[in-house]
Amino acid sequence: MKNISVIGSGTMGNGIAHVFAQHGHPVSLIDISQDALDRALTTIAKNMDRQVGKGIITEEEKNQSLARISTFTDIAEGVKSADLVVEAATENMNIKLDLFRKIDEFSPSSAILATNTSSISITKIAAVTKRPNQVIGMHFMNPVPVMKLVEVIRGYSTSDEVTAEIMTLSQNLGKEPVEVNDYPGFVANRILMPMINEAIYTLFEGVAGVSEIDTVMKLGMAHPMGPLQLADFIGLDVCLSILKVLHDGFGNPKYAPCPLLVNMVEAGFKGVKTGEGFYQYTKGSKDIVVAPRFTK
Ligand code: NAD
Repeated sequence: MKNISVIGSGTMGNGIAHVFAQHGHPVSLIDISQDALDRALTTIAKNMDRQVGKGIITEEEKNQSLARISTFTDIAEGVKSADLVVEAATENMNIKLDLFRKIDEFSPSSAILATNTSSISITKIAAVTKRPNQVIGMHFMNPVPVMKLVEVIRGYSTSDEVTAEIMTLSQNLGKEPVEVNDYPGFVANRILMPMINEAIYTLFEGVAGVSEIDTVMKLGMAHPMGPLQLADFIGLDVCLSILKVLHDGFGNPKYAPCPLLVNMVEAGFKGVKTGEGFYQYTKGSKDIVVAPRFTK
């Protein structure tokens, strides 16, 4: 698989384009506005500069990689010569179903269609195409150039051949792919989100404050980041929507989102992206935590 089309040039899409281009693939990066695409190219160049600084790639490799990325706002143009399409658009069922109908129509019939969705059923997405056996989940982790894992999710109809191709391709990108089946939350979020939800319940019930909960999990379990800070980093709205998928998909009350999480999202406190969640952030920064929002 040579030519890669990446749909959506946000946080994940620009990282996915970066990694494919760095590994020699011509990449067509597609978004709805040229502004979004220009921002993505700036981010990719900045992240590659960081890799040059660390000696991971040379300046020449950076320039060659950047030259492999073309941008498109027209989806038909962007996918017309794809061997693999990786969809990383906004996590919204209707947007994804609509995109997959279009990708199916305009990409070569031999192309594999992958989605980076965190929680939407691969089987459901595959069912709107005429090639459900060639549709698969390719769940990269954030930040894509740094994180090793790719959760490779087989939909109900995904073929063995397509799964094997995506596993090999992921390895060729320097990643560690793990094959899983298509059930709500797959593996990563099925385990991570209940932990985050439990941390929020622990806060909600007054068992401990924000820093206490995060410190216990960092120092006690050797997690690099506490669950509340991680939730801010992922986005509290994203956490809420994945918990709803788990709750709806399994019908089990253990996945019910904590009312505090629901309230925070409704009030617009979504974590790093809005400058405040469980912690407060300096505007535009992921790293600097000014003060915990809740204490004991
Ligand atoms: P984002 O909001 O940063 O980017 C989404 C991009 O998709 C935006 O640039 C938007 O303009 C574009 N888009 C929306 N509709 C489109 C359309 N019809 N055609 C083309 N582009 C369109 O979102 P993100 O965080 O990069 O998430 C993208 C996907 O990756 C989601 O499915 C999400 O669940 C998944 N994911 C996210 C993370 C994460 O940590 N952010 C981790 C793993 C997986």
